[in-house]
Amino acid sequence: YDYLFGSLTDDELDDVALIDPATGAETTYRTLRGQVLALAGALAARDVGIGTTVGLLCPNVPAFATVFHGVLRAGATVTTINSLYTAREIEQQLRDARASWLVTVTPLLAAARAAADAAGITDDRLVVLDGAEGHPDLRELLLEGRAAPDVVFDPATHVAVLPYSSGTTGVSKAVMLSHRNLVANVEQSRAVITLTPADRVLAVLPFFHIYGMTVLLNLALRQRASLVTMPRFDLTEFLRVVQDHRCTYLFVAPPIVVALAKHPLVDEYDLSSVQTVLSGAAPLDGDTAELAGRRVGARMLQGYGMTELSPVSHAIPRERHDIPVSSVGIAVPNIECRLVDTETGDEITELGPDGRTAPGELLVRGPNVMLGYLDDSEATARTIDSDGFLHTGDVAVLHAGGWFAIVDRVKELIKYKGYQIAPAELEAVLLGHPQIVDAAVIGVLDEDRQEIPKAFVVAAPGATLTADDVMAFVAGQVAPHKKVRRVELVEAIPKSASGKILRKELRAREAPAT
Ligand code: ATP
Ligand code: MG
Repeated sequence: YDYLFGSLTDDELDDVALIDPATGAETTYRTLRGQVLALAGALAARDVGIGTTVGLLCPNVPAFATVFHGVLRAGATVTTINSLYTAREIEQQLRDARASWLVTVTPLLAAARAAADAAGITDDRLVVLDGAEGHPDLRELLLEGRAAPDVVFDPATHVAVLPYSSGTTGVSKAVMLSHRNLVANVEQSRAVITLTPADRVLAVLPFFHIYGMTVLLNLALRQRASLVTMPRFDLTEFLRVVQDHRCTYLFVAPPIVVALAKHPLVDEYDLSSVQTVLSGAAPLDGDTAELAGRRVGARMLQGYGMTELSPVSHAIPRERHDIPVSSVGIAVPNIECRLVDTETGDEITELGPDGRTAPGELLVRGPNVMLGYLDDSEATARTIDSDGFLHTGDVAVLHAGGWFAIVDRVKELIKYKGYQIAPAELEAVLLGHPQIVDAAVIGVLDEDRQEIPKAFVVAAPGATLTADDVMAFVAGQVAPHKKVRRVELVEAIPKSASGKILRKELRAREAPAT
């Protein structure tokens, strides 16, 4: 709280913090600050403070910011819950995180109530922001007009938030992040991601996921920009909101960049207000990104991070025109990065004749490295080594110019006849085909139990694409060992809420559990 609101001047408090396109309502920093303090007071009066965990199940609406920062100001811990979760998944997270309160909105109340009941959270501890019979609501709590409590904790060790990782490679993990982690990462990101009070930032990335949480709820508010909230992604609605609210900065994930590059609807909107589009969360194809940038007339940037890093560790600064958008840019200040050989663990430092290092697993050390996984000291010890370096599980290369490029996850690399093939590279090649609108690649076993790349491809409407066409197209662009050896045309690629390809779902389809 002090970090975000503590030093705002009178003039600054009049700036607009949040805009709700659904109603046109604007919330100033003064109002937001007042709400945060009043909510902290109301929560403290109910014994919500240090040691309490509050579940927050809510799509992106302005009140999310009030609750998020209000709970933190009260000294309690927030665990943000995916707003697409079913009652069973919500219950699981509430239990796992040991949440004793839940905050939600009416459209999600049925699932929230079922989950809360099952997790032993009574109706008086299930807050419904927009009001529902028998539950506290936000307006009521704020109207109590209580003063915020004095809370004392160690910002380096007190758990501020418990976001869950995306669950791309397995079960989502509860990541313990301290106040220090959050503040450190805003300070680090601020140095490479330029946002000013003049920026209108589209808030379409879910606040519940660490990427939206840090760059929108923490960084953008720290920079006194205005957030334009969108509760869910829909391309038409997205384009309309960007146009009508003259958004200047878009934080996105790769599926949105692909849509900006390829979807015919994009031409029907005036996107001239957009100056910068920054993509993160999953591999981005440089050519597609450049196409999107030309079409929108904006600077395309990329960043990289993970929940365990609060999350940002790399980004391309806007003024660095020498860094290609296919890379994730430079390391943020105050972290150390190492690349290590995935087989031997030896550090890789040498630049090859092509001006880059060999690929290696990226290790990161710094104040943004998580405290650990909740209740899982073994997983924590496997991830953070005795020197304090966090093993990201991602393979990267370092370029002579000082920037990094992500190859893919260590676990996703396909081992074909002693070669390692990155699915992300083949996906980028596939997206280069004018008739392919989406693609995903996984390793499957052929008749000889040999791992081979298989592509799942979504063809453009009306396209006359065959599996053979796709294989021939890829074969024309990659070395023979990287050829795609199987192709399946599909309607859609399964993706997570944070925009990642769910390869584990594709894998499950290949080898159904029998
Ligand atoms: P889980 O850890 O539960 O399997 P997850 O790793 O997808 O899921 P997140 O913490 O949301 O959960 O995502 C971090 C991961 O996202 C990184 O480890 C990396 O694999 C991927 N990622 C993030 N940004 C980029 C990027 N710019 N390019 C490529 N991959 C990225
Ligand atoms: Mg992960």
